[in-house]
Amino acid sequence: MKLAKRVSQVTPSITLAIAAKAKAMKAEGIDVCSFSAGEPDFDTPAHIKAAAIKALEDGKTKYGAASGEPGLRDAISRKLQRENGLNYKAENIIVCNGGKHSLYNLILALIEAGDEVIIPAPYWLSYPEMVTLAGGKSVIINTDAATGYKITPAQLRQAINPKTKLFILNSPSNPTGMVYTPDEIKALAEIIVEKDILVVSDEIYEKILYDGAKHVSIGTFGEEIFKRTIISNGFAKGYSMTGWRIGYLAGPLELIKATTTIQSHSTSNVCTFAQYGAIAALEGSQDCVEEMRLAFAKRREVMYTRLNAIPGLSCPKPEGAFYLLPDISKTGLKSLDFSNALLEAYKVAVIPGIAFGLDDTVRLSYATDMATIEKGMDRLEKFVKSKI
Ligand SMILES: *Cc1c(COP(=O)(O)O)cnc(C)c1O
Repeated sequence: MKLAKRVSQVTPSITLAIAAKAKAMKAEGIDVCSFSAGEPDFDTPAHIKAAAIKALEDGKTKYGAASGEPGLRDAISRKLQRENGLNYKAENIIVCNGGKHSLYNLILALIEAGDEVIIPAPYWLSYPEMVTLAGGKSVIINTDAATGYKITPAQLRQAINPKTKLFILNSPSNPTGMVYTPDEIKALAEIIVEKDILVVSDEIYEKILYDGAKHVSIGTFGEEIFKRTIISNGFAKGYSMTGWRIGYLAGPLELIKATTTIQSHSTSNVCTFAQYGAIAALEGSQDCVEEMRLAFAKRREVMYTRLNAIPGLSCPKPEGAFYLLPDISKTGLKSLDFSNALLEAYKVAVIPGIAFGLDDTVRLSYATDMATIEKGMDRLEKFVKSKI
């Protein structure tokens, strides 16, 4: 069969592949410690489930508006005002099938052959693939541990040329967990305005912060940057709703309308009754978010301390999300070899950094229980000692 060329231009998700292999080993009865999860390990909070169940029983089982249930778009509008200080009307918001789908719709609506998209590395692995699928070109800007894996204003300025259309900002970041300070975001905003490009701010981890770190949305630094900003967010990480598939974009009307047209011919509306769960998430008690954050904070402390105590590994202390990205270069192994050997010999699953554009690292998720963290760290320590 002759498949479309675009298929050979993208690679299947390495993170999903390793997680699947670890799951299969577990199913065979093998005692695997998995740090590959890209999702919270908590169940969705009960009041959110109850709202979706009620909606289902109330007959919210039909097609809805392609852009989302009006009640959810209103709730998102209020949320952006209340929590982020951003003024978006409901008409400036589209509800999509997850944050991933939101970003994909956005890139399809914006990017075409000849357009460049600036992506700091290490990056969330789907960004460049989406740009490729849309026919655009990703311009990858490398960052390192010395700058906290953050792009500097000088780096951003240098990467911009007349073909540049979009800059992708992700703070708190997957895979690094790093959080840009308000000053750092402001400095990037100034360049975006000066060079007149667009920025999409992927804020999916905004609620998972530590050590007093603050999340500031780039669109809050004045009208000029607001006009050039698109917010991408969702419910998966902060409310432990990964399987619900609900995310959203907020941005300029023309662009939101364009994404709605695309969505109306592809997926149509997000599962109608699920959207009622999302309304409950935004409008109900936020205690569940804090409980999950506190659990993550404890695990981060343990995993971070254990990792840095292993001779040969080093890792900056991230202030957000639920990942650690240690440097493995002293083991002499590249990330895929490291990850495969670790899984096969010591039954610990991590994600090779090559998936995120940084081959000298692996990503460990601490979205798992403390006993698994302790046991897995024991095994990782033995593995690294055997290599150095
Ligand atoms: C998980 C994640 C998303 C979105 O996930 P969905 O499940 O599609 O909502 C977006 N960006 C990053 C960086 C993520 O890690």
